[in-house]
Amino acid sequence: ALSCGIVGLPNVGKSTLFNAITQAGAESANYPFCTIDPNVGVVEVPDERLDKLTELVVPKQTVPTAFEFVDIAGLVAGASKGEGLGNKFLAHIREVDAIVHVVRCFQDENITHVSGKVDPLGDIQTINLELILADIDSVDRRIDRSRKNMKGGNKQYAQEVEVLERLKAALYEDRAARSVELTEEEHVLVRDLHLLTMKPVLYAANVSEEEVADAEGNPYVKLVREFAAAENAEVVPISAKVEAEIAELEGEDKAMFLEELGMQESGLNRLIRSAYKLLGLYTYFTAGVQEVRAWTIRKGMKAPQAAGVIHTDFERGFIRAEVVAYDELVAAGSMNVARERGQLRLEGKEYVVQDGDVMHFRFNV
Ligand code: GDP
Repeated sequence: ALSCGIVGLPNVGKSTLFNAITQAGAESANYPFCTIDPNVGVVEVPDERLDKLTELVVPKQTVPTAFEFVDIAGLVAGASKGEGLGNKFLAHIREVDAIVHVVRCFQDENITHVSGKVDPLGDIQTINLELILADIDSVDRRIDRSRKNMKGGNKQYAQEVEVLERLKAALYEDRAARSVELTEEEHVLVRDLHLLTMKPVLYAANVSEEEVADAEGNPYVKLVREFAAAENAEVVPISAKVEAEIAELEGEDKAMFLEELGMQESGLNRLIRSAYKLLGLYTYFTAGVQEVRAWTIRKGMKAPQAAGVIHTDFERGFIRAEVVAYDELVAAGSMNVARERGQLRLEGKEYVVQDGDVMHFRFNV
């Protein structure tokens, strides 16, 4: 399953947020392929389209799609030099697909800040520096190796060294690897380095419970926004403490509490949706009377691989798919009307699945 790592300095609210995530957590019986680990929280992705399809089809059950948040606590200054449990944590970051970087924007005299004062930009730089140093290490080692291989006259290594040098230059200027523009082909050359600063990132600005209704009024949030804008990253203001309280409530109690706080929906839902977008993920649906369900794929996946997300047999025995776009199905009001309108398409092995496709697979067993 795809995963998002939660990182940040100590005492910024990571565990509080992670607890809210596990509390709000998914029904694990529905997601047997997800990791069982105290540091992994499985979340369901809120999606209005799923509610709409449920109204339309009236199935026995509705199952949202899910992905994983991994709590990567313990990152401190000096991690790249092995301080604390440095290397272990960096290795965990290497395994996730995207990063949620929690930044402390709340004031609280009683809670110590590692550097003595609330300083979100300083905190971001401290963490980013560790990631950059770790990447410099990886890039330097690879450059040495590729230079040796280049002597054999292999063109690919020459091109690889050229790309690595560009990455190295950026890293030495304190810039993340993701800030270097690479072509698809160049990306492939360095993909197996799994550079930490190549991963997409979003900043979760942790504000106090009093500020949650007007988080943009918090001057620290403003600073984080300015910083993030320069690197094309997104910012989600959130109050970890409030989210932990919301996660304990259900139904009407939850709705009332949100209203009291002046919130449309939980910050966690916004964070989940942003993280999903950050991962570059698409959702397709299956809609039968037994079950209406959302499934996650990567952008660009073809029909057989998309079917494989449900079951490997579906991919192996794939024949074709019946597909209708979500908007067309909803406008038609039923599968039958969509069929009469000629909106139900038959697609083969080469079909690239689109976000919002409602699919039915035909396969050999
Ligand atoms: P971590 O070290 O980053 O995992 O931080 P924790 O989640 O353990 O939080 C550190 C302390 O800050 C705890 O005492 C939390 O209760 C507190 N804390 C976290 N979020 C907030 C918040 O939004 N407001 C306030 N006042 N305290 C918070």
